[in-house]
Amino acid sequence: MRLILILLCLLTLNVSAFEHKEDTVANQKGDKLFIKKKPEGPLMVSSLNAFVDSVSNTIPDSMPFHDWITDDIHQKKFNFGNIQDTMTIVLNDSTDHYTPPVEGRITSEFGKRRWRYHYGTDIDLNTGDTVRSAFNGRVRISTYSKTYGHVVVVRHNNGLETLYAHLSKRKVEVDSILTSGTPVGLGGNTGRSYGSHLHFEVRYYDEAIDTRDLISFESNCTHSDTLAISQCNFIYREELKLMSAIKYHRVRSGNTLGHIARKYGSSVSKLCRLNGISRNSILRIGQRIRVR
Ligand SMILES: [Zn+2]
Repeated sequence: MRLILILLCLLTLNVSAFEHKEDTVANQKGDKLFIKKKPEGPLMVSSLNAFVDSVSNTIPDSMPFHDWITDDIHQKKFNFGNIQDTMTIVLNDSTDHYTPPVEGRITSEFGKRRWRYHYGTDIDLNTGDTVRSAFNGRVRISTYSKTYGHVVVVRHNNGLETLYAHLSKRKVEVDSILTSGTPVGLGGNTGRSYGSHLHFEVRYYDEAIDTRDLISFESNCTHSDTLAISQCNFIYREELKLMSAIKYHRVRSGNTLGHIARKYGSSVSKLCRLNGISRNSILRIGQRIRVR
């Protein structure tokens, strides 16, 4: 499914996406001249709002992407599906570089996980292993959450954020300035976690992207020194829309297919088709029956 979406996206991606935006000025004769904007260098945290420059036509000015919110892991979402441009983000240069947060086996990839979506990559570790910041940056979140356990979110100078979850111990505080490789905490099994691992997310303006879009975990490096971000990185949201259209019912004592069909305005034959079961199938208490 994902592969099809990506192919679709590549086919429809605006081919001019890699061009710099151009400004026009008039010379003395009044002819219009096109002047290429200089590519921006790596931007500092304090001027992140300037980072949206090349997408300013598609992002409303009022959107507070650059807000420095230190008590909300998930900030306001933005629909990147509307953006036609491609942003080039610097990952490695003379001032910054990627450091693997922890070196270990990948135990779960970004993507659909049964009826939920997994917005990060899980990396195996032992409780107590050092977890490091992937790039230079500043700590936006350092807290305990029911889901993520001890969690740290670092905002990087290039607009990316990385999230490190299920830590046994946090070693940084909000507003700490980090260099790439600085320990953010120790690996663990806190929050909604079954076994010690690092849940590692990469986000761009709070929209998760697949860590593998930029990182080769097998080689412990980034694929390239830059990352081109476009609609393609967010095409998975189409898959999410399809998933949110799907609804399940958890079977309780006494439920029959007839009851469930009536409750959701469906029919027994439709439920059978959706779940690959027959009319005579015995329902177990706690079983999930797809109703939409
Ligand atoms: Zn995870």
